[in-house]
Amino acid sequence: MVGLEAPVRPQRGQIMVTEKVAPFLDYIVHTIRQTDEGGVMISDSVEEAGYDTSVGSEVLAIMAERAVGMLPLLARLNVVRCWAALRVMPKDGFPIYDQSDSYAGAYLATCHSGVTLAANHALVLPEAIDAGTLGEDLGAFRARRFHVSPAH
Ligand SMILES: Cc1cc2nc3c(=O)[nH]c(=O)nc-3n(C[C@H](O)[C@H](O)[C@H](O)COP(=O)(O)OP(=O)(O)OC[C@H]3O[C@@H](n4cnc5c(N)ncnc54)[C@H](O)[C@@H]3O)c2cc1C
Repeated sequence: MVGLEAPVRPQRGQIMVTEKVAPFLDYIVHTIRQTDEGGVMISDSVEEAGYDTSVGSEVLAIMAERAVGMLPLLARLNVVRCWAALRVMPKDGFPIYDQSDSYAGAYLATCHSGVTLAANHALVLPEAIDAGTLGEDLGAFRARRFHVSPAH
């Protein structure tokens, strides 16, 4: 309606959460994190399953095996819940920030990793929108990047 496009797709991720234990993981690990409350979150599934949010023991078993391979002490913990959710995944995995060329004042922002990018969305992006243009840096994230000629 305002000349903006957001090519995103659902991408399923399954999460396993253990019982709470004393802090032991002082480092940031990509697929295993201990929360401040003590539970360990294990998550490394990346699945193209459309809008299906079901949880499956086949994938969970692989995740558990990999996690125990990385941190053997996890084998002693009970899993207390598992769930699945859909990532909102842009076509190339990177955020899309755009502004309408035909309707001044209309902007678009969509991304995966909204937690990691929260500072950018709270501080940098609003300033640019307030100034009336995404500028050169944020302009690189416009959806026009998807309209390129195929390589020969
Ligand atoms: C499996 C998985 C793993 C992820 N891992 C990471 C990661 O490691 N790092 C990272 O940075 N990001 C990760 N993300 C992405 C991150 O969770 C999202 O980018 C972030 O939560 C988006 O925040 P949000 O506040 O915009 O939306 P949401 O967190 O989706 O919040 C939107 C809220 O609005 C509510 N809502 C929706 N419609 C209505 C309505 N009509 N009325 C009232 N309320 C409504 C919803 O119930 C929800 O509470 C992951 C996502 C998934 C699914």
